[in-house]
Amino acid sequence: MFKDDLTQLKASGRLRELTDRTSPQGRKITIGGRELLNFGSNDYLGLAADPALVRAAVEALEKYGLGGGASRLLAGGTELAMELEARVARLKGTEAALLLNSGYAANTGIVPAVARPGDAIFSDKLNHASLIDGCNISRAETRIYRHRDMEHLERLLKQTWAKHKIVVTDSVFSMDGDIAPLKEMDTLCSRYNALLYLDDAHATGVLGGGKGSLAHFSLEPEPWIVQMGTFSKALGSFGAFASADASKIQWIVNSARSFVYSTALPACVVAASIEAINILENDTGRIERLWANRERLHAGIRKLGFNAGASETPIIPIISPGIKEAMALSDRLLDADIYAPAIRPPTVREPRIRLTVTAAHTDEDIDHLLGALNT
Ligand code: PMP
Repeated sequence: MFKDDLTQLKASGRLRELTDRTSPQGRKITIGGRELLNFGSNDYLGLAADPALVRAAVEALEKYGLGGGASRLLAGGTELAMELEARVARLKGTEAALLLNSGYAANTGIVPAVARPGDAIFSDKLNHASLIDGCNISRAETRIYRHRDMEHLERLLKQTWAKHKIVVTDSVFSMDGDIAPLKEMDTLCSRYNALLYLDDAHATGVLGGGKGSLAHFSLEPEPWIVQMGTFSKALGSFGAFASADASKIQWIVNSARSFVYSTALPACVVAASIEAINILENDTGRIERLWANRERLHAGIRKLGFNAGASETPIIPIISPGIKEAMALSDRLLDADIYAPAIRPPTVREPRIRLTVTAAHTDEDIDHLLGALNT
């Protein structure tokens, strides 16, 4: 059973395979004994193996041990969870925040908590899989609007009879690196009395001086907005959060099944996330380096004539005409000791290399990548 399906996947170039490191995450990684320059991680600020994060984790490990042992509601969490929630609420400018076990768990738990059968969800065509799954789990009516198309979104909002409307969007789209038009979305949500659920996974630590997409657009965290974000990308740690006003957070505590029915994050992970926020707030040079690197790589790629789509962030796709071409480009980069994986359907419609540049890369790293792309 499934063997034929796997054979078919392989024949069509869609078979997914595991790639494991024997080194920490970082600018360079070791895979299969080969040291590779890494342009495939979401470790935007180069914090995943930062000694301060590791030290914070080790100290918490020694103090609290490893396993949470129970759900947060049954004393699986520690005082560090509340400390981190207070830090997230301050960073995001909201009354309250809540930790969740991963971005996937957050989206598949919170979307169904805030959108119920009889409600209407409006979801961008290119939203992350975890948001799509959250919409499906909710059993609310889900209408898909064309990517970043505000006229389409408004038309759909006008058409609905549902009392509760929820607009869900990635703020930075994970495979294209473009940004949702949040000013217009905020206006539409206030006009049509809709809740705006923002997935700030790739914006936290990257946009708005690290505060995320609302700060980027100088928007206030209005009462109709729920922000979700992850510690697993720019913050170099693991887990996720929701931040909003206190009643929404309390509602999520009471009804998000991925929160209620899952073991709390280990304290060592929470401690590392606190340290990451310390670094984010005190070392603004990292964000500056990230953006300088992003501009250098993006300009170089455009100059070489590649199709980088509508990228506006450190996520820079090189869109290929087909799966074979994307795989061949990834292999060519591997020959130059560069890790830059091909992303294929069904993850994306158009195959691509998804390049991500971080604050840890040097000018030489970026020039080496550009040189390899130019062969
Ligand atoms: N949302 C977006 C936009 C993402 O890109 C990801 C991770 N790829 C997630 C949510 C899931 O986050 P996590 O990896 O913490 O489960």
